[in-house]
Amino acid sequence: METEKKITQTTDNSLKRMGIFGGTFDPIHHGHLMIAENAREQYSLDQVLFIPTGHSPLKHKQQITDSVHRCAMVSKAIADNPHFALHRIEVHSQEISYTFRTIEMLKENYKNTELFFILGADSLFDFESWRSPELIVKNCSILAAYREHKRQEEFLLHLSYLNEKYPGKFHPLDTPNLEVSSHEIRRRVQEKKTIRYLVPKVVEDYIREHGLYQSAIPRQR
Ligand code: ATP
Repeated sequence: METEKKITQTTDNSLKRMGIFGGTFDPIHHGHLMIAENAREQYSLDQVLFIPTGHSPLKHKQQITDSVHRCAMVSKAIADNPHFALHRIEVHSQEISYTFRTIEMLKENYKNTELFFILGADSLFDFESWRSPELIVKNCSILAAYREHKRQEEFLLHLSYLNEKYPGKFHPLDTPNLEVSSHEIRRRVQEKKTIRYLVPKVVEDYIREHGLYQSAIPRQR
């Protein structure tokens, strides 16, 4: 499978710990980078793979920026972190991308590797509506970051509920709360407001150079 940066291979028989971070990344922002970095540190991950969605089952009716741009922005944003890599497994597929299938393929390809799927609270609440959630938890553990602190209690309750249903598979991710979303960034660009410090400088420059998010009506979250 092709990747932007080389994915570390194990040279011995020790089990490698790999984070999987799927998202539309339209565009990638500091909230994404922060939860990936905190997951890496808290769960001693050797590497985190950023996997931009191809044809998403949830966002397929909405207008999504071409994957070439979304991947380019991810690649630039993670370039300075040796533990992060871009994986184009989903954007290379013509079919609708289902998380369970992506994880199955990664499991087949990376032997001696324990997989940890990273997601935000909004995705955790949606988890059971995803295709084949039982196959997702069969092949990986889930690291969930809460996103809106006012819903923290609800988040922890939902995490316990899922852990009862899928024993020991869900773990909380403690990260500083950064109330930033791709939707907010697209809206700000369209309204000609600054996005400085919400996204890495390289992403801000890329958005400007390619004239992204100028005219399209931003999707609602
Ligand atoms: P949009 O605003 O277009 O819906 P988004 O900002 O939620 O996009 P996605 O690429 O859809 O970004 O998100 C990928 C994953 O990152 C999801 O699991 C989402 O919950 C999580 N995530 C995104 N932003 C944050 C944030 N600020 N804090 C915690 N998790 C986040």
